[in-house]
Amino acid sequence: MKKHTLSNLSLLMVLFLAIGFSACKKEDTTEPTPDPIPVVNQYEPWTQAEIDLIMSGEADEPMRILVTSNEEDSLFLTKQTIPIEPDANDPILIRLRERMIKTMIDGGGVGIAGPQVGISRALFWCKRFDLEDKPFQFIINPKILFYSVKMITFLYDGCLSIPDYTGPTATRRHSSIFVEYYTQDGIKEQNILEGTSSSNFTAVCFQHEYDHLQGILFPERLNVP
Ligand SMILES: [Zn+2]
Repeated sequence: MKKHTLSNLSLLMVLFLAIGFSACKKEDTTEPTPDPIPVVNQYEPWTQAEIDLIMSGEADEPMRILVTSNEEDSLFLTKQTIPIEPDANDPILIRLRERMIKTMIDGGGVGIAGPQVGISRALFWCKRFDLEDKPFQFIINPKILFYSVKMITFLYDGCLSIPDYTGPTATRRHSSIFVEYYTQDGIKEQNILEGTSSSNFTAVCFQHEYDHLQGILFPERLNVP
């Protein structure tokens, strides 16, 4: 009987300990604080070669335009570009922007893309014929989200990187595009661009410069029947 009593007591102790352990265990299984998610910069920083080239001249000093008649330049012009962080305060990006517009205006162009000055980054200058005063706009990391089904023939395409071109200049382009890009102030914008006439060809200009970022030159867009 005593033994039986002791046995019952032992059983109670075991149950008590089990319940107590279970309670303690429950408290211990609270969700651990997760590690903070590391911030990953999705943009590749400037290379030293890019910095050296961009900073080799003052803001008003034009850069050398790569031309297709030079074999090395020609290969560079067909490369796919990579994005750059659209940081409005980046002194490298500011200098590049300033030198590119100087290069473009000196060359008599209405647009110029990074690869044309030896910088394989997704950025370009493009004239906004559709806006009042027709300003030039610096475009960073552009995407063409939608293309119109309607196509047009633009008669007078041309490129600063193909200065001695004497072939046909009529290219086939989409009449309007829906685009997204960062401005020089680092603001993301979306826009419908149209304009395919000789006095307003914003959509064509954008498509031409956007092509440069994919390594495509306008002779590949010729309106060949
Ligand atoms: Zn061009």
